[in-house]
Amino acid sequence: MSDTQAVEYLWLDGEGIPLSEANFPISTISASASTSVFEGIRGYWNQEVEQLYVFRCDEHMRRFDNSMKMVWMDRKFSTDDLVSAGLGLLRTNGARKNFYIRGMAFNSGRGFFAEAQNLATHLLLETLPIESHLGAIKRLDCCVSSWTRIADHIMPPRIKAGPNYANNRRALQEARINGYDDAILLNTQGKVSETTGACVFVIRDGRVMTSPVTSGILESITRATLIRLFDEQLELPVLERDIDRTELYIADEVFCCGTGREIAAVSSVDRFPVGDGEIGPITQQIVSLYRSVVHGEQSEYQKWCTPVW
Ligand code: PMP
Repeated sequence: MSDTQAVEYLWLDGEGIPLSEANFPISTISASASTSVFEGIRGYWNQEVEQLYVFRCDEHMRRFDNSMKMVWMDRKFSTDDLVSAGLGLLRTNGARKNFYIRGMAFNSGRGFFAEAQNLATHLLLETLPIESHLGAIKRLDCCVSSWTRIADHIMPPRIKAGPNYANNRRALQEARINGYDDAILLNTQGKVSETTGACVFVIRDGRVMTSPVTSGILESITRATLIRLFDEQLELPVLERDIDRTELYIADEVFCCGTGREIAAVSSVDRFPVGDGEIGPITQQIVSLYRSVVHGEQSEYQKWCTPVW
């Protein structure tokens, strides 16, 4: 996915406008750099019924609204308004394949970083085509980052804020330079938090575990979805508890999950193979279940899939 793939129309402050007309004064950069919050939502195309299903759109828009609240932004649109705007934009852009909605709330004005206040808030939605890897599960070689995850009392990871991602980017760039696909960050307590864009699940002796929402993670909607699916469909209640670094080294399976990342198997951590380095059975099971849920094939979870057409 890249910005060059952006389709023609955007939704800006309540109106659909062509990309070429969405112009802001360059001075907007200084305020928006320190205050922006964003959201990412996937729509899955189901070829069988020729329908695009947006996955857990309400929950994503609610998190978007909470992010705006926590950075003192004006919130002129309700969650319902944002859901209809997102769906409307997908229709305007003729979305008939897998698509992504990116929401961005930013400030304009001449404020500078910490002084930026009482600035105008703008809300932008854009839609981008995106590939899915749920058909062929991705495998990632990860390191534990030398960088520490930001904490709630420093820069709350619960807020999906642009500036937070300076931390994630630092970890990801370092990982890539050192030949890894991604990094797992430890929090200020030295416990596993998350990767640079996804939450972590660890499986050992048939027990599924994930770090708690107080461990310096984004309150991931995919994580919450998988906790429900493990419990309700696979009879594997997930234990939410602190995870040590070395538990990653001796786990049978590790995977990470997120809207963009979907579900990816972690095949090694710090070059220690996870299990036998292959995709484990529980990971395979949850991927195939998740794949059918997001495509609107499971009646019990249809409520999570909003049809666009
Ligand atoms: N953690 C971080 C840092 C992320 O950027 C994301 C992606 N939004 C996630 C976790 C996963 O969250 P979600 O499942 O809601 O997409």
